[in-house]
Amino acid sequence: MPGFLADLTGSFATSAAQNPTVAIMEAAYQHAGLDVRYINCEVPPERLGDAVRGAIGMGWLGFNCSIPHKIAILDYLDALAPSAEIIGAVNCVINDNGRLTGENTDGQGFVNALRTLIDPRGKRFVILGAGGAARAIAVESALAGASHVEIVNRTASRGEELAALIAARTGATAGFTHWTGPYAVPAGTDVVVNATSIGFYPSTDTPDVDYATIEPGMVVADVVANPPDTEFLQKAKARGAEPLQGLGMLVNQAMTNARLWTGRDLNADVMRQALEDNL
Ligand code: NDP
Repeated sequence: MPGFLADLTGSFATSAAQNPTVAIMEAAYQHAGLDVRYINCEVPPERLGDAVRGAIGMGWLGFNCSIPHKIAILDYLDALAPSAEIIGAVNCVINDNGRLTGENTDGQGFVNALRTLIDPRGKRFVILGAGGAARAIAVESALAGASHVEIVNRTASRGEELAALIAARTGATAGFTHWTGPYAVPAGTDVVVNATSIGFYPSTDTPDVDYATIEPGMVVADVVANPPDTEFLQKAKARGAEPLQGLGMLVNQAMTNARLWTGRDLNADVMRQALEDNL
């Protein structure tokens, strides 16, 4: 007998209209034969509490929260996963019968995507940017065993704070470089990440890097998922580096969210295809 009561998941953000996650999640739930829905909700800051209480009231499995709720959501949670506590931001909430746990799966998605190319243990990272994505990536990479994380940022205070956090709360060493001109990637760097919004569609700008210092064998990653093959990655490829697209991070993050909510591993290829169809 078919059931008529689906399990619910979704996202709270504003603005929500351009977020393609619903397309990825629904395609993958359907492919796995799961009776689970993903509802994309427009939630302004003053309604976040109502939305959270609604999700509890309706017994949602959990939800994502995106801009501008990733820090504000902390006020509504009962527990935080260890890396989310260090990062100080949450993008995935799991509802266990009204008890809410916060996770940050942005950085986990990045590290899982990175692992398809390289083991982060003992590696030296350069991270361009010190915003939300950079913070999650820096913390997870350090917790995954990176030996050194160099933060490169235009605004010194933000970059210094992130480098200090990595040094204080993880096993990695950390440094900060103030980004004031073309950045020369230090010899011996294994992974370079553009964790800024530079290059997001329709822009074709590239981060201000001295591309001659990118060497064959380095992994060069972009958080920008649209377009998937950014100018930054193309320039790095031309230097012989191995590229890692932001799409991989997005798909891996969605996989982790689904696992936390349903306990199931969804199909990454189905997710990637749904994303490409919707970009
Ligand atoms: P934030 O606004 O928190 O941070 C933006 C960062 O980019 C800051 O470090 C900022 O520097 C830097 N930046 C922006 N413009 C410039 C510029 N012209 N020159 C130098 N630095 C610049 O944004 P988020 O961290 O939330 O998002 C960053 C990107 O990551 C977005 O494109 C987002 O779409 C993407 N993202 C991708 C995910 C994925 O799964 N692929 C997941 C999450 C985010 P400063 O501190 O000086 O302002």
